[in-house]
Amino acid sequence: MAKNLVPAPDIKETVIALKERYPTNLENVDVDRIIFWRDISPKKKRAYAYVKRIDDMDKMVNPNYDYHFVVNDASVKHFSPAQMNGLCFHEALHIGPPKVDSNGNVTATIVKHDLMEFFVVVAALGFDWEFNPACRDLLGDEKVELRERPVKDEDGVESEGPEEDPQFV
Ligand SMILES: [Zn+2]
Repeated sequence: MAKNLVPAPDIKETVIALKERYPTNLENVDVDRIIFWRDISPKKKRAYAYVKRIDDMDKMVNPNYDYHFVVNDASVKHFSPAQMNGLCFHEALHIGPPKVDSNGNVTATIVKHDLMEFFVVVAALGFDWEFNPACRDLLGDEKVELRERPVKDEDGVESEGPEEDPQFV
């Protein structure tokens, strides 16, 4: 992993809270299998955050984890708490169900966006949530009723392989 990464227990707490409130949407998220990081390098990155599978090489160092969950601090400085919650929810939606092959090997999977974004995020927070500090707060006083995309494509459901990740917001 890149340098400038520091553990991010607060991000983990946010994802735990999101999963508690939206268990169906985040059913594949097992926070104990995810390593949460902040990238504190001062330069803005293209992505606000990303989720990356822990690949075979990385597995030797981190055998008990499936994903890195990284927030690029410099890129989200302007985010309100509601936007941070939206971002964490978005990234957590990238975590797919484990895939088991015929030999019983389990592989972590990444879920692709079903629009340019995730339908469920856009429907709840608005298409401009990343530019709107006053967007709805998924962890606000009221639970947000989430709406699933009516029809799903055959593709765009899940994927694997390094060419697919990291997935960017
Ligand atoms: Zn994304």
